[in-house]
Amino acid sequence: MLARVTGHQLRLFNSLGRRIENFAPSADVVGLYSCGPTVYSYQHLGNMRPYVFADTLRRALRWKGIPARHVVNITDVGHAVADSDTGEDKLEVAAVKERRSVEEIAEFYTQDWLDALAALNVQSADVYPRASTYVEQMIEFAKRLEDKGYTYQLPSGLYFDTSKSPGYGTLAMMDIEGQREGNRVEIVEGRKHKSDFALWRAEEPGVRRIMRWNSPWGWGAPGWHLECSVMSMTLLGDHFDIHTGGIDHRELHHVNEIAQSEAYLDDGQPWVRYWLHNEFILLDAQKIAKSAGHTLRLADLVESGYHPMAYRLFLLGGHYRSQLDFTTAAMDAAQATLRRLVARVAPLRPFPRVDTLAAAVSLLGIPVDATGAAIGGDAAARGATYDETALAYIEAIDAAIANDLATPKLLATLQDALRDPDITPDGLKVVVGAADALLGLRFDDLEPAEVDQRRPTADLSPEELATIERLIAERTQARKEKNWARADEIRDELDALGVQVTDTGSGPTWQLR
Ligand code: AMP
Ligand code: ZN
Repeated sequence: MLARVTGHQLRLFNSLGRRIENFAPSADVVGLYSCGPTVYSYQHLGNMRPYVFADTLRRALRWKGIPARHVVNITDVGHAVADSDTGEDKLEVAAVKERRSVEEIAEFYTQDWLDALAALNVQSADVYPRASTYVEQMIEFAKRLEDKGYTYQLPSGLYFDTSKSPGYGTLAMMDIEGQREGNRVEIVEGRKHKSDFALWRAEEPGVRRIMRWNSPWGWGAPGWHLECSVMSMTLLGDHFDIHTGGIDHRELHHVNEIAQSEAYLDDGQPWVRYWLHNEFILLDAQKIAKSAGHTLRLADLVESGYHPMAYRLFLLGGHYRSQLDFTTAAMDAAQATLRRLVARVAPLRPFPRVDTLAAAVSLLGIPVDATGAAIGGDAAARGATYDETALAYIEAIDAAIANDLATPKLLATLQDALRDPDITPDGLKVVVGAADALLGLRFDDLEPAEVDQRRPTADLSPEELATIERLIAERTQARKEKNWARADEIRDELDALGVQVTDTGSGPTWQLR
C-alpha cells in the first residue's frame, strides 16, 4: 500500500528544451551520471556545487521511492588546458609544476576532493570511474565512429565531423553556423569546422606525452569528451535517464558528448533524456575559476572557523539553477542559521529515519486509502486522529522538492515547522527527519559545540571592528609593498587581539579565535 504514496509529481528543469518536465523513469533503476572533477588541483568552492546538487537530486529520487545508480567520473587524463583540443594535458602541466608524477597528482587531488565531499555529507556515488582506466574502450568507441564515417584524421589527431551530426548543438540551442564560424578561438590546422572536436589527440612529432597510449591514429591520448560517453554507457547502459554537470558544460562538453554518443548508437533515440545543470557560484561577481587563480576551498572556510555544513546550507539556501554570490556576509549568515537550527533540533533527538515520503506518511500513522491518496484529500472524511499539522508540513516538503528541487522553499518550510506551536513533538520529529533526509545537514548528529568554535564577530564593538579592519588593510598594503617585516608586525598585533588572518586567492579573510 505504501508504494502507492507518490505525492507531488517530480518535476525537473530539462536543459534539453529548456523547460520544466515531469520526470518519468525509463527503468527500474534510474541511471544518473554526473561529470566529475579534473584532478589536477584543489577543487574550489564553486566546484563543489555540482556534487551537492547531484546529491540533492539523488535524495529527491530516493524520497520518491525511485532507485538510482549514480556514476561520477574522475578525469585524470585528456582534459587539456582551456578545454582545448590541442593544448597540454592539465594533469601533465601540474605534474611538471609540482615535480610529482601524474599518478601522484591524480591520487592526491582525488583524495582531497573525496574528503571535501565527505565533509559536505555528500553520499558516495556507486562508482567513481577513472578516465585513464577506460582508454581501451575509448579507442574502440572512436574506431566505431570512424567506421561509420563520422570522423576525419589530421596530423593532430582524429576529429569528429560535427556537420555529420544532424542535431548538433540542440542542447546548447546554438546557432550552428554561428558556432561553426565564431565562438571558439582555438585554431586547429586542417579542422573542417570550428565545432569539430578531437576524439584522439595525437602526439606532436618530437613531443612525447607522459600519459600515452597507442592507437590506430598514433601514440597519444583521448579527447576530453570521449571519456564521459564511454564510461557512462559502460556503467549505466547505452541509454540512461539523467546526466548532470555545471552550466558551462551545456554549451560544449555535453553538446559533444551527445553528438558522438548518438552517432555511435545510431538508433534514432535521444541518448539521455534529462540534462540538468547547476549555475555557477560567483566570487566578486566572477566565476570562481581555477584558471583565474581563485582557489578558495572548503578547507579555507573550515580554517576560518566555518563548519562545512554551513557551506552546504549556503548552497541549499539558493536554488541550483540560480547564480549564487559567495560573500563573507552570506557565509556568516549561513553559519548563524546553522547554529540556530542545530541548537533547536538537538534536544529533539533521536529522529526517526524518514528517507521516503512513504515512510513519513507511515510514521505519522496516516491511513492510506484504496487509491493511495494519503497526501491531500479530506482528512476529516477519513476520520483523522493523527497530527494534521505535521502532515501539512510533510506535504509542503514534498511539494518543494518535487518542484525542481526547491531547497530554499524546503528550508523555509522546516523553519516554519520548528516555530509552529500546533505541531506535536512526534510529528515534528518526523518533519525534521524528512527535511534532513533531503537536505543532508546532519541534524541527527551534529553537535552545537562542533558548529561554532569561534567567537562570533558580532560580539565586537564598532571601535574594535574598525581597528581590526584598519590593521588588515595596512597589512595588505605592507604586503603589496613587499614590506614583510611590517606585515609580520601587524600580524602579531592582530594576533594579540585574538584575530586570525588567512590569505586566500581572493584576499585576506579573518576570524576571532
Ligand atoms: P572541473 O574540475 O573544472 O572539470 O569542474 C568540476 C565541475 O565544477 C564541473 O561540473 C564544472 O561545471 C563545475 N564548476 C566549475 N566552476 C564552478 C562554479 N564557480 N560554480 C559552480 N560550478 C562550477
Ligand atoms: Zn563529462
